[in-house]
This record gives sequence, structure tokens and C-alpha cells, in this order.
Amino acid sequence: MLVVEGVKNGIVIDHIKAGKGIEVFNLLNLGEADFHVALIINAQSKRLGKKDMIKVDNVMDLNLDLLGLFDPNITINVIENEKVTSKINLKLPQRVKNIIKCKNPRCITSIEPYIENEFELLDQESCEYRCVYCDEIYKIEK
Ligand SMILES: [Zn+2]
Repeated sequence: MLVVEGVKNGIVIDHIKAGKGIEVFNLLNLGEADFHVALIINAQSKRLGKKDMIKVDNVMDLNLDLLGLFDPNITINVIENEKVTSKINLKLPQRVKNIIKCKNPRCITSIEPYIENEFELLDQESCEYRCVYCDEIYKIEK
């Protein structure tokens, strides 16, 4: 098994598109972490040429929906005793609540602030979501 330098028990967020590591870092609020976190920019990658990575020396809960929505090509490696024990491949979540907002000004979620934004995945390939209230299409930018 692959030995991961610098992480004893934790996670490595891998295959982040080069230049996007800082966005993932902020998305996960890692600036406020009180454990060891490393952001690696422009690491070599066979798959991507260059990639960003985040190493977290802590077992933390990740919002996989949020990460999957940000970039479904990201891979999560779970590290135990400095070895990769499992890999999680992200995908676009089937349903998302309160992460993306409906842009239709006539949608009930735009009019009534207490109603949660909720979207359903239409198509994994085209990254399109549909508002469950008004059918407005939301496309995730890649
Ligand atoms: Zn809507």
C-alpha cells in the first residue's frame, strides 16, 4: 500500500484541478483547522499533468455532496497509520439542499426565504440540476 508522507490518520483530497486547491481549502473551512493541514499546489499527476492536493492529518467529516458538486473528479483517500486504507470517488449528488440557489425570480424559494433550495440531478454527464419547485435548470460550471 502507498505510504502517505505527513499524514498518520486522516485524509488526502487528491486530483483537485491545478489552481483550485485554495477554493477547496476555503470550501472546507480548513483555514480554521487546529490540526495539521497541507495544501499542495501543482503536484505532478499522471492523469491531470498538474494537480492540487490537500492533506489533512485528522479524521474529519467531509461534506461529500459539497465536494462532489464542486468537482466530481476529486478523489478522497482515507489514511490510517500512514497508509491508504480506502478511496472514495466523488460524483455529483442526486439531491442537493441549500448549496445552489434557484435563479428564477418567480420561484417560491426566491419569494419565501424560509423555503429551502432543493435541486435534483437531471444528468450526470451534462451536470444539470432541476429545481424541485419550478423546474428551473441549473448547470454546474466545470
Ligand atoms: Zn426554483
